[in-house]
Amino acid sequence: MLRLFRRETSSGTSAQDHLDIAHEGAVYRVSLRRVTGARRYTLRVRNATRDVVITMPKRGSLTAAQDFAQRHAAWIAARLHRLPVAVPFRAGAIIPVRGLDHEIVHRNELRGRIELAVSETGARKLIVSCDEDHLSRRVHDFLKREARTDLESAVRKHTGSLGFSARRITVRDTTSRWGSCSATGALNFSWRLIMSPEFVLDYLAAHEVAHLVHMNHSDAFWTVTRTLAPHTERAEAWLHAHGASLHRFGVEPDQSVLVKVR
Ligand SMILES: [Zn+2]
Repeated sequence: MLRLFRRETSSGTSAQDHLDIAHEGAVYRVSLRRVTGARRYTLRVRNATRDVVITMPKRGSLTAAQDFAQRHAAWIAARLHRLPVAVPFRAGAIIPVRGLDHEIVHRNELRGRIELAVSETGARKLIVSCDEDHLSRRVHDFLKREARTDLESAVRKHTGSLGFSARRITVRDTTSRWGSCSATGALNFSWRLIMSPEFVLDYLAAHEVAHLVHMNHSDAFWTVTRTLAPHTERAEAWLHAHGASLHRFGVEPDQSVLVKVR
């Protein structure tokens, strides 16, 4: 029995997908990524997903991974601490919609309505009527729908001015890129663009539509992009300065920190 138990444990260990690293009263969850061809252990804290990942050789040892992560525990803690403060979608949270701050207002009605509103004093609100447990999901879904509407209309405008027919687009929670254009001409965007000012979303749509003409970042590509979106430089500058901070909205804080003792 003991032997069987131990065998089960060790096979369970080889399928292990994370390590828990203790440091100064906190425990940090580190995801394991075994990569064929990886020669060394690499530790990363990802800003967009707010998690910690260790990349290791396909047949690397868990003990080595654990030692490596443990040696860098202070670095993990410091990097997580430096992430921009997370703003979960909850009542009272202030979130940008089309670049303008809106307060999430929750109404405990089951009519399932959600709408943007401006009060007499000019305060902008996102009013959500639903069961409180569903608030975050409802806000996500709403923003994704609004993003799709705005992106579809921007893509239609830009394809129209180039003389193309409209393209179908997909809207996802991409973390590494704001938009992409596949070899087959499929356009894909991050729903988080609905939080950026309208000229930024418009520029991203123009950028991906311009890839339908030039599948590269050549001078010719930038000429098409700037013709479609004269505000290209301003939008690029905005994304450089503020783009990363859009990832802090609608996420739970400290998801990689399991135990925090203060
Ligand atoms: Zn591009």
